[in-house]
Amino acid sequence: MRNRWTVLIAAIVAVLALNVGATAASGAEQTAIPLTRALSMLESGSPDSARIQGGTLLLREGERAYSTPLPASLSERALDAAEAGGVTLIVQPPRSTAAADEPEAGGGGGLDIVGSIQEWAPMALLGGLVLVAWLTLRTAGGARFKHRVKPVRSATRLDDVAGVDEIRDEVIEIAEFLADPDRFQRLGAELPRGVILHGPPGTGKTLLARAVAGEAGVPFFSASGAEFVEVYAGLGSKRIRSLFEAARKAAPAVVYIDEIDAVGARRTGHASTGEREQTLDQLLTEMDGFATDPDRPVVVLASTNRLDELDPALLRSGRFDRKIAVALPGREARQRILDVHLRSRPLDRETSPADVAALTAGMAGADLAALCNEASFEAARAGRDAIDLGHFRRALLRLAAGPERRSHLLSDEERGLVAHHEMGHAIVAHLSPHCHPVERVTVIPQGQALGITVALPDEDRLLATRAECLDRLAMMMAGRAAEELVFGEFTTGAADDLARAATLARQMVTQLGMGGDTTEASLAIGLPPIPGAGMEDAAEAAARDLVNAAYRRALELLRENRDLLRRSAELLMEREAIERDEIIDILGPRPVQPRLEALVRA
Ligand code: ADP
Ligand code: ZN
Ligand code: MG
Repeated sequence: MRNRWTVLIAAIVAVLALNVGATAASGAEQTAIPLTRALSMLESGSPDSARIQGGTLLLREGERAYSTPLPASLSERALDAAEAGGVTLIVQPPRSTAAADEPEAGGGGGLDIVGSIQEWAPMALLGGLVLVAWLTLRTAGGARFKHRVKPVRSATRLDDVAGVDEIRDEVIEIAEFLADPDRFQRLGAELPRGVILHGPPGTGKTLLARAVAGEAGVPFFSASGAEFVEVYAGLGSKRIRSLFEAARKAAPAVVYIDEIDAVGARRTGHASTGEREQTLDQLLTEMDGFATDPDRPVVVLASTNRLDELDPALLRSGRFDRKIAVALPGREARQRILDVHLRSRPLDRETSPADVAALTAGMAGADLAALCNEASFEAARAGRDAIDLGHFRRALLRLAAGPERRSHLLSDEERGLVAHHEMGHAIVAHLSPHCHPVERVTVIPQGQALGITVALPDEDRLLATRAECLDRLAMMMAGRAAEELVFGEFTTGAADDLARAATLARQMVTQLGMGGDTTEASLAIGLPPIPGAGMEDAAEAAARDLVNAAYRRALELLRENRDLLRRSAELLMEREAIERDEIIDILGPRPVQPRLEALVRA
C-alpha cells in the first residue's frame, strides 16, 4: 500500500490483466515508470539524484531506483522539471558503447579536419579529458556528498496547493511567523519548532513545505531522510549538522526533511542500526539546541507517510510537536487540484474539471498532475487543440496499465482466447450489482497484459462492503472461468488474476473479518492477525473457500449467459476495444441493488 501506483491500480482501476506467460523482466532492480511520473517526481524535488544516460532518465529515491525512456526532444523538459524541483540532473554520455563513453576525447578525431589534426588533437584530447573528469567528479559528488546545504528561493505559493482548506490556516500561520516573528512574540506566542506533515504519498506535503518558505519569503533548505543514512559511518550526523548550521546562518529559514522516517523510525535496539541512531540523535540535538535568535527563526518541517512508525522521541514537545495531517483529496478537493493543473492547459468546452474529479476517486494530487499531463499528450496525439473527457479516460488507463502496444500482434487463436477471457471478466462485472461499471475491454496488448478489462467507480468509495469484495473476487476469477467454459481448457493467462484474488481473499479473512458471512463466523475463523499455526491453516482454508465460491459463481453466471459471452467475444475480436457507452448496448441493463438496504429505506 505504500506505492501510490499500486494503490491506484489495485483499488481504483480494477485492471484485470491477462498476463503474458513468459515475462521478460526489463532491467535489473530499476522500476520502469512513465515519463510523466518521472517528470512530476523531478518537479516535486523528491529524487535524491537524477541522471540522463543514453536516452534513459534514471532517478534514485532512497533505496529505490526508477527509469524511463527519455527522447532527446524532451530532455529539456526534464532539465526544467529538475530545476523546478531543485534536483541536480546529471547528463551523462551513454555507457553502452565504449567509444561513446568518451565522445570528447574521441571527438578530436571525429572532427574531420585532416589538415589541422596535428594541432587540434592534443587540445581536443585534453579538453575531452577535463570534461570526462568533470562529469565523473560530478557524478561521484552526486552520489557521495549530495547534501543540499544550498537553499533555494521557493516560488511556490499556497495557491499552488489546492484542496487543503482544513490545514490552510495552520500553514499560513507558520509562514507568517517566519515572516514577522515579532508580531507573534510580542503576544508570547512561541515559534513551532518542528512540524510534521503526514499523509499518503503525492498529497502535496513537499509542496506545502515549499509554500511555507515561498509565502514567508525565506530560504528553503531541503533534504531527504535517505540522504542521512548512507554508507559511511558518521556521515549522516555530519550532514545533519551542516544542514542546520547553514540554515541558522541564513535564518529566518525553513528546513525541510522529506521522508523523515528514513532516519526517524522507531528504534529497535539492534546494534546494526547504530549509524542511523547516531544520525537521529544528532537531529534531536539540533532541534533541542535551537536557542536561536528569536528574531531569526528556523522552522523545521518534515514529512512522512508513516507517522506511527516514527520514534516517539522525535515527537516530544519542543521537537516535532505539531502534526498536520494531509489527506487524500475528496471530490471537491480533486476538482480544485485539477483547476491548478489545468490552468495552463486548454480544456474542451464540454468538459469540466468536475467530470474529471468524478473519475479519479482515490487519486492523490501527484496522480492528478500526472494525469493532466498525460491527457495533454493524448489530445496532442489525437491532433486536437483542447483536452476532453475522452483524453482523460484514455490517460487514466495508460497511466494504470501502460501504453497500448497495437503493433504487438496476436494470432487469431490467441486473440480468440483473450477475447473470451476478457469478456468473461466484463460480463461478470456487468452482471454483479456491486462491481464498478466496466469502462473498457480490450484485446490490445498493454503493458504486461494481452488484453484488459477496466472497471471504474462512479463515486468516491472509502469503504467496501463484503458484497462488493465478493463481487470483485468473482470478477477476478471470471477470465479463467470463461476459458474453461468455452474451451474446456485453460491457459497461463490467469496467473495475475489468481494472485490478485488470493491476496484479496486472504485480506478478507485475516485482516477484514470477512471470512464468514457474519462477523461472528468471520472471527471464529481467525482474529486479525492470526495467532497460532492451527489458525493459519483454518484461515488459508477459508480464503480458498472464498476464491472457490467466487469462481463457481462466475462460472455459473457465464454458463447462464453463454450466448452473450460468445457473441460479445466475437465482437471484441473484431473491434479490439469496447467502451463504457457501448457495453450497456451489448450486455444489456445492469442489475441494480442498493449498497446498504437499510440506509436506502431510512
Ligand atoms: P508528497 O510530498 O506529499 O509526496 P508532493 O508535494 O511531492 O507530494 O506532490 C507532488 C506533485 O503533485 C506536486 O509537485 C504537484 O504537482 C502535485 N500535487 C500534489 N498535491 C497537490 C495539491 N494539493 N495541489 C496541487 N498540486 C498537487
Ligand atoms: Zn484476466
Ligand atoms: Mg514529497
